[in-house]
Amino acid sequence: MPSIRTLAAVAVNLLGELVAPSACVACDEPVGANVLFCPSCAASVERTDARAGHAASPPRWTAAFEYGGAIATAIARLKYQERSDLAPRLGRAMLTAAERARGAVDLAVPVPLHPRRLAERGYNQAALLAAPVARRLGIAFAPRALARLKDTPRQAALDREQRVVNVAGVFAARERSRLHGARVLLIDDVRTTGTTLARCADALHRAEVTSVHALVLARRG
Ligand SMILES: [Zn+2]
Repeated sequence: MPSIRTLAAVAVNLLGELVAPSACVACDEPVGANVLFCPSCAASVERTDARAGHAASPPRWTAAFEYGGAIATAIARLKYQERSDLAPRLGRAMLTAAERARGAVDLAVPVPLHPRRLAERGYNQAALLAAPVARRLGIAFAPRALARLKDTPRQAALDREQRVVNVAGVFAARERSRLHGARVLLIDDVRTTGTTLARCADALHRAEVTSVHALVLARRG
């Protein structure tokens, strides 16, 4: 028997489908309900849900996709082409990966943007991805728990060594009482070297969280 909650979610999805037919998140081709990519884009995408996150350096983490192909296109649209409308569906695509952390996390915290970057973009894509994950896992959502103190160059534009230096001392906990004792699910769009996630985890541990598990939409490299 599906639960009331499942039935409600299905009803909402069906309603959404009637109001606004779905489109491929990478190319806007029409697609069916609950489908992220059209067939040709889907052929370029690799899900990583089945694989455990590599844990050579903390925090533990899980990714939904390998970065590349249509998922890279979808992320670029989300971040740089004002397509915040894609975030709820991309966020829901992280749920299978998020299941690994279910029961072990109670607070969703997105990787923050610097206020200047936030003002330019108008939204933090990590927060938009985190909201549906928190809702579906039934955990609290703290989009302002971490702050980014320095406006660093885009990680993608730097080499590996520069990236490590780039994020040193960049993050700080803002809602310390809320973080104290929390089991955090730290959420970002892309994991490249893991340095950003590690520095955020450091800031969270300075605020005395109990644990940090990271979840990203795509892993790169
Ligand atoms: Zn497509």
